[in-house]
Amino acid sequence: MHIELIEMLRCPEEHREEFLVLSTSEMNGRMVWLGVVGCPVCHRDFEIIDGIVDFTEVVKGKRQTRSVRRTPAPASPVVLDAESLQALLDLGGPGGFVVLLGSASRHAVGLAALMGGVHFVGINAPPDVEHLPILSLIQCDRVIPLRQAMARGIVVGAECATSPWVVEARRVLLPGRRLVIEGESVTPEGVKQLAVGRGLWVGEKR
Ligand SMILES: [Zn+2]
Repeated sequence: MHIELIEMLRCPEEHREEFLVLSTSEMNGRMVWLGVVGCPVCHRDFEIIDGIVDFTEVVKGKRQTRSVRRTPAPASPVVLDAESLQALLDLGGPGGFVVLLGSASRHAVGLAALMGGVHFVGINAPPDVEHLPILSLIQCDRVIPLRQAMARGIVVGAECATSPWVVEARRVLLPGRRLVIEGESVTPEGVKQLAVGRGLWVGEKR
């Protein structure tokens, strides 16, 4: 996890948003390789293991040696090159965060080559996606552990194109910014449809 992402994290529990507290055990440049993020509201602690923030398990007692459980995802049925995706996201200048859900995390390297100065956040990225200086990885259950309205763009992978994830994607997106879904059947509330077709749904948050 990139150290600056700490300001954008939130606890997945249903309580007010509050900054999480980071304690690092091992860094690699600006990336936290090992550490713990703690919630000052409900006092749950979550581990950062091998660079991945794991919100699926609460730390209890002494830290164990373990790896983060990740979810395999099939190749996307949608053919989408980085140039087309960049155009759909309509990001403009550098800076900020773009969130990639599930198998959409596979787009991080291609997008980063086109867009300098943007940091990518992969949520539940499949095991073939590596943690990189341009890509922070987070594992979670049903709540995306990011603050509301923090993302300059969001891409939802085909296997996540269902209502709980899409609702969460909308919450995390900044108003006026784009949501790209690899799937045509979900129409999120509060997002203005801009285009649909070729396996994709593109909208802008109101
Ligand atoms: Zn909490």
